[in-house]
Amino acid sequence: MPEPDVERLVEDARAGRARAVGRLLSLVEEDSPALRRAIALIAPRTGAAHVVGVTGAPGVGKSTSTSALVGELRRRGRRVAVLAVDPSSPFSGGALLGDRVRMGEHATDPDVFIRSMASRGHLGGLSWATPQAVRVLDVAGFDVVLVETVGVGQSEVEVAGAADTTVVLLAPGMGDGIQAAKAGILEVGDVYVVNKSDRDGAAQVRRDVRSMLGLAQRPPGAWKPPVLGTVATRGEGMAEVVDALEQHLEWSRRSGALELRRRRRAREEVEAIALAALRRRWAGSTDRDRLEDLAGRVVAHELDPYAAADRLLGD
Ligand code: GDP
Repeated sequence: MPEPDVERLVEDARAGRARAVGRLLSLVEEDSPALRRAIALIAPRTGAAHVVGVTGAPGVGKSTSTSALVGELRRRGRRVAVLAVDPSSPFSGGALLGDRVRMGEHATDPDVFIRSMASRGHLGGLSWATPQAVRVLDVAGFDVVLVETVGVGQSEVEVAGAADTTVVLLAPGMGDGIQAAKAGILEVGDVYVVNKSDRDGAAQVRRDVRSMLGLAQRPPGAWKPPVLGTVATRGEGMAEVVDALEQHLEWSRRSGALELRRRRRAREEVEAIALAALRRRWAGSTDRDRLEDLAGRVVAHELDPYAAADRLLGD
């Protein structure tokens, strides 16, 4: 494959050309050797986008809500990118056919960009790939990058929780309160949304979540996550959700929380890149032989596993 002209790609992405944005995201997905140069050009020009994580159990209405949120953001004139990440699915290697279908009404809007990523079996997984993909969308000038996690579990919560603002979606009839508490999502939400508020039990879920959040100790001046109700299928309540996202961003800027969160994200990003590099090194033939040799010596009781790990890390 010819070496991609990354300078050109980055320039075109900054000019808002969707094809270039798509190519750069493919470099991320493929973990291309050219990615390093691309990110070196991109990283200093990022930071303007509002990164919003959307998480919640399957069936609560995440994709319907994301689409409705895109609609509300477009009404406010924002350019919006959606990154749907699924840590538990096989690596997709590009946009899914479903993207166009599920975001049907926005598919032809040039100011909306939609892309799915999955990464099982990928070195470093989504903790490595997601922040790079977000950087690409940020440099492309999207005002808001919605990172929607598709599955459910700890890794989804982590991916969504690394955003500037995290939206946790719930819905009645899903045993939500307990489920949410178990998955740890009551710790990461900045905005809680009880979707399917046209159904019985929605008010009860809102009360449950409010009382669970009320138990948490908050220092004075801390952000108090609102608990909102929506009917995503009818677009109801979306204006309030977008208002809350904007208020949270505003509070984060003022309080310094944004800087702290972005620092945490960068810390995790650097760590993920370093770990992926180490794994790649160990997968190389010389180091693989060395690892084999060390494993043999552990089995033969010549070395204990900690001492073996020290040697592996040693040089
Ligand atoms: P996801 O799995 O979380 O992405 O959920 P989807 O967005 O695919 O929605 C799951 C189902 O719930 C679909 O059949 C939607 O039409 C339906 N749904 C989504 N939002 C609402 C809502 O506000 N009210 C009702 N009654 N159904 C909804």
